[in-house]
Amino acid sequence: MSKNWDYSKIRQWTWREHPLGAVIPEAATADHYETGGWRSLRPVLDREKCIDCFFCFIYCPDSSVMVQEDKMTGFKLQHCKGCGICAHECPKEAITMINEAEAKGLETCAADNKDGA
Ligand code: SF4
Ligand code: SF4
Repeated sequence: MSKNWDYSKIRQWTWREHPLGAVIPEAATADHYETGGWRSLRPVLDREKCIDCFFCFIYCPDSSVMVQEDKMTGFKLQHCKGCGICAHECPKEAITMINEAEAKGLETCAADNKDGA
């Protein structure tokens, strides 16, 4: 397939603008696709238990585990599919998979509380 793709405004695209079939328009453009919307479970890190072994980073198929200055710092939720591999591989049970809908509900409550404060 040869087609010139204008994906400069991809962050404003809705599902209607995305081509069917998960087409990758050019090499190294996967970062532009916010595929975390498929997730039904969300990984949550317990920093107290984490020993920064990076097993989660190595095993994550979506490069969604964030590392900064030799510390595991959380998850890129724009790309995390909620597969749970990180939680399965973590030797310290520092990652818990929680229901995505409930997590979104908690975010909304937190935002509401902040607005009302
Ligand atoms: S749930 Fe899956 S995609 Fe998300 S961070 Fe863990 S291993 Fe990666
Ligand atoms: S696998 Fe577990 S202990 Fe190791 S860095 Fe990831 S969260 Fe921390």
